[in-house]
Amino acid sequence: MSQVQAFLDQLYHELKGVSAGQVASYIPELARANPDWFGISIVTLDGHTYEVGDVAQKFTIQSISKVFVYGMALEDYGRDQLLKKVGVEPTGDPFNSLIRLDEDSKRPENPMVNAGAIATTGLITGADLADRLNRMLAMFQRYVGNEVFVDVSTFISERSTGHRNRAMAHLMLNFGMIDQPIEDALDLYFQQCSVLVTAHDLAVMAATLANQGVNPITGERAVGANHVRDILSVMYTCGMYNFAGEWAFRVGIPAKSGVSGGILAVVPNRAGIAVFSPLLDGHGNSVRGLKVFEALSRQYGFHLFDLSLGRCNFTQT
Ligand code: GLN
Repeated sequence: MSQVQAFLDQLYHELKGVSAGQVASYIPELARANPDWFGISIVTLDGHTYEVGDVAQKFTIQSISKVFVYGMALEDYGRDQLLKKVGVEPTGDPFNSLIRLDEDSKRPENPMVNAGAIATTGLITGADLADRLNRMLAMFQRYVGNEVFVDVSTFISERSTGHRNRAMAHLMLNFGMIDQPIEDALDLYFQQCSVLVTAHDLAVMAATLANQGVNPITGERAVGANHVRDILSVMYTCGMYNFAGEWAFRVGIPAKSGVSGGILAVVPNRAGIAVFSPLLDGHGNSVRGLKVFEALSRQYGFHLFDLSLGRCNFTQT
């Protein structure tokens, strides 16, 4: 067995018993998650996959979708146009906060928190709502390498309880940051959050970003190489909500988390890594997920400022 696989197995067994944190319940459908679910997947660009645990368990992608829809908006609009509608500044506030929306520019701070993500989704082009959804699903499919589906129960659960998100959309409509009909933007946003993935899928998606936008398994391009730097930059500064600074300090690679318990992270030019474990801390990040990434970053030296020293090499360790 490879040393990487042995390390993952050991980590999995060490952390499996960690029971701190809570399963998200503000979206009723998410409360049904099994708190024991735990999977770790690493997909390297030189063709290796190292996995342990519940890596085939499906769950809804939630906020991790924001990364990929931002990429799509960059393709649809170009970065300068997009910057007029959605900034790239970390908020230091919870992901569902409204407090900064009414300040200064009225522009949502960044596309990794809900307000910015709803504005970004509202910009996705298409002939009608079905066409916009189909374009979005096709985009996710290029990253995953397989067909993807929306979990209808979660979508309906979010749509019927997403009052904060609806309030943000109304505020942004008032400021001219999104257009009517806002119900379309919200439906599309709730649907993107309800796309079903596995930890393995997320690792392949991350590996695609690590590989300048080309899925390393299928060879298909998922996003223009010229947009990858922008996507990774906002992930690095804003992807872990109001824990982004701590994450950059401790783990040191672009990442994004979601309330269903996934964390996806990109080791540029090396690998994509994903962890799935639904128990969340107060910031909404997976408790076991954070521990896994801290341990992996230490073990493999993939903090960006270690990487620049040429340290990280999954296959030789
Ligand atoms: N769908 C969730 C919401 O809008 C996504 C939040 C998240 O994963 N942080 O509240």
